[in-house]
Amino acid sequence: EPPAGCPPDVEQLGRATWMFLHTTAAYYPEKPTPTQRANMLMLLRSLPILYPCGWCAEDFGKDLQSNPPQVGGREALSRWLCERHNEVNQKLGKESFDCAKVDERWKDGPSDGRCD
Ligand code: FAD
Repeated sequence: EPPAGCPPDVEQLGRATWMFLHTTAAYYPEKPTPTQRANMLMLLRSLPILYPCGWCAEDFGKDLQSNPPQVGGREALSRWLCERHNEVNQKLGKESFDCAKVDERWKDGPSDGRCD
């Protein structure tokens, strides 16, 4: 990891971006308004165009083509995003994440209360 105060490398940028995306999905409304849906779609569709890691952006764009964003509500969106992250995990040879635990990881924390 680069020393504090240095520009992020691909790993740091990835961790920060996934944190932002999973947390935003975890707090996305159960019943989003048309405006909220449209903006979530734009946020996700902007990544293949703007994400500052060229090969990441390109592969994510292909994945979005075959797996359209599920912006109908927080549960569907959180699961969809977990599956997209797992696609990247698989590509990088990382362990797959259990998507049943996505709220525990990004919203509620574990039931033992150690994050409270
Ligand atoms: P990360 O993968 O960053 O995950 C952070 C934390 O999220 C984990 O510790 C875990 O608690 C949790 N988590 C893991 N999987 C899931 C899941 N499926 N759902 C919910 N939570 C989960 N890097 C490359 O080298 N090549 C690429 O092509 C590439 N493409 C990327 C595309 C996108 C859109 C993004 C956002 C990142 C990409 N990255 C890519 C970065 C890569 O995904 C990782 O962020 C980076 O390698 C650091 O990995 P990490 O092991 O620290 O954990």
